[in-house]
Amino acid sequence: MKIYNTMTRKKEDFVPVEPGKVRMYVCGPTVYNYIHIGNARPMIVFDTVRRYFEYKGYDVNYVSNFTDVDDKIIKKANEEGVDASVISERFIKEARKDMEGLNVKEATHHPRATEEIGGMIEMIQTLIDKGHAYNAGGTVYFRTRSFNGYGKLSHKNVDDLEAGHRSIAVTGEEGKEDPLDFVLWKPKKEGEPSWPSPWGDGRPGWHIECSVMSKKYLGDEIDIHAGGEDLIFPHHENEIAQSEAANGETFAKYWMHNGFLNIDNVKMSKSLGNFFTVREISEKYDLQVLRFFMLSAHYRSPLNFSADLMAASKNGLERILTAVDRLKDLSGTGGAIREEEKPVAEQADALVRKFEDAMEDDFNTADAVSAIFELVRLANISVDEASSEGLIDYVRTKIETLCGVLGIITEREKEILDSDIEALIEERQAARKARDFARADAIRDQLAAQGILLEDTREGVKWKRA
Ligand code: AMP
Ligand code: ZN
Repeated sequence: MKIYNTMTRKKEDFVPVEPGKVRMYVCGPTVYNYIHIGNARPMIVFDTVRRYFEYKGYDVNYVSNFTDVDDKIIKKANEEGVDASVISERFIKEARKDMEGLNVKEATHHPRATEEIGGMIEMIQTLIDKGHAYNAGGTVYFRTRSFNGYGKLSHKNVDDLEAGHRSIAVTGEEGKEDPLDFVLWKPKKEGEPSWPSPWGDGRPGWHIECSVMSKKYLGDEIDIHAGGEDLIFPHHENEIAQSEAANGETFAKYWMHNGFLNIDNVKMSKSLGNFFTVREISEKYDLQVLRFFMLSAHYRSPLNFSADLMAASKNGLERILTAVDRLKDLSGTGGAIREEEKPVAEQADALVRKFEDAMEDDFNTADAVSAIFELVRLANISVDEASSEGLIDYVRTKIETLCGVLGIITEREKEILDSDIEALIEERQAARKARDFARADAIRDQLAAQGILLEDTREGVKWKRA
């Protein structure tokens, strides 16, 4: 399997640190708002990378954080007059809801920065002890020039960087030894969340979070570290400096970065205001369409979001679902695959290999999707009522499996029938009468999950579709 490594700027063969296992870390969102569809791109593409590794039999330890302490969260909390944790809790919950809609698998661990402060203090102390960091009146800085490899990921030269920095006199950071140094710990300001530390009350810098959470849940050396390409510098460069200086080991073997999701060729971002939230998109489209749209391009290419492309994705997805439905409805002639049907099964196998070849080539999901379309065409042309049950199942299972690797759900959501709703409501009434409230609540929740809202009125239970 080949992966493009930002560090070497080459496609490299994937060789895991530990055979049969993949340790991967994906930088997650800062939770001060609903996630936008740009944020959804790394979630979808790296979830697909994970799914492919799992399909190949690897055991994947997938870690993705929530950054729940940050200037923007604090600003929003102050605007609303609530604690920062109220804001982060709210948007973690909303992000999880969106991720579920996008069929992004639950990470093995979803650490939150505020729950890992102890580990951060420990790593900062190690860096101070090793001479890689220093305390300047309550602010702890990383001594950038003390780490020899600084710039190796972003291919930047330290002296060029120095030239591009504003001088300390201009920025007012008098405690800094060098403009290149970056913050590991900052002192408390009025109205901000803070934690006690050997350098006084304060909070961690952003970069140290990921170094610490990656170490805790995955170990000192990991296989893949990933995120959007805007994170290459300075975030990932700084993570490497911190982790390698503290641990004395290579931090990550492969660095993967997704391209931007753009609107009119401009990066979608909260600060520019040119974004759609996943929630907004979910009101117009099934989120499966958004997932399919994202995977129709290579993850490293820029991708322009447009209504036309979403419409094309909707049609493409529909073509696949229709083919699967048809295969499910075919009764065929029964029995196993017959001799004369073997060439069709072999063509299906060849298309599965085509899909795998595309994925093995740096996760080329665009070509992988084409292989699925070819499989759909094969099914539509060569599988019908005259086919054996064996062949029908064989081709259907192949399509379903490959879609599953991309996280595309081939099962259509069935609309619940009015008669089923009425029957469940009756059962709930009976459970209530028998004081089995747990059962009654379970039925209400089950209906709610299918978008059916109940209202207890004096005339009895009324219901409506949400
Ligand atoms: P943030 O909440 O800004 O830290 O971003 C969370 C993740 O989303 C990071 O991996 C970013 O690189 C990624 N990201 C943000 N905006 C975009 C975009 N327009 N296209 C692709 N990825 C993005
Ligand atoms: Zn990170």
